[in-house]
Amino acid sequence: MDTSRRDFLATVGAASTQSSTLGNETDHQHQAVPSDATLRVKALESLLVEKGIVDPAALDAIVDYFEHKVGPRDGARVVARAWVDPEFKQLLLTDAPAAIAQLGYTSVRGEHLRVVENTTNVHNIVVCTLCSCYPWALLGLPPVWYKSSAYRSRAVIDPRGVLQEFGCVLPDDVEVRVFDSTAELRYLVLPERPTGTDDFSEEELAALVSRDAMVGVRKVQKPTQE
Ligand code: FE
Repeated sequence: MDTSRRDFLATVGAASTQSSTLGNETDHQHQAVPSDATLRVKALESLLVEKGIVDPAALDAIVDYFEHKVGPRDGARVVARAWVDPEFKQLLLTDAPAAIAQLGYTSVRGEHLRVVENTTNVHNIVVCTLCSCYPWALLGLPPVWYKSSAYRSRAVIDPRGVLQEFGCVLPDDVEVRVFDSTAELRYLVLPERPTGTDDFSEEELAALVSRDAMVGVRKVQKPTQE
């Protein structure tokens, strides 16, 4: 097991021990989750390897793939394509796995992807209230704040307050919808295309799309005028 793999396992258990934009959170609470998830993950992996059920090299390859080869740029490519191609956008909103397959992406086996569209009237925000289910196939590994119990609880109780902390202040007449990801169903937000980008290429549009916008905690900002 190399250092990066150990770091990853540490990340699995660390969840919200760091402070975040949601405030200092030192009292990390899990409902029905072991108090030391890292040790349990390591113990489970050791047993599975010992019994010959999993190949440690295969596990390392999977972790390396999501840690180094998949990231928010993949999701941004999908968003930019949807902004410039109405047919692709329609497919993305009705059958996301089929749409992302056109760009060479596949959902992790056993999970379904659903894309929800932000409009001038509706703002969507994604959370996993139970743990940290996240669209790994398009965004890579989730940020620490996404796994924090503060975000997981407050995104449901007070989504507008959470959005404000990310600098996303919405008019009162905008409906906020909260989507709770699960192991079987992961959500990705299709942000609104910013105005003033009509002459942008698909690549230039993709460069504007942040990870946070695809989780729904920020908007995609208009490029600043020089
Ligand atoms: Fe989860």
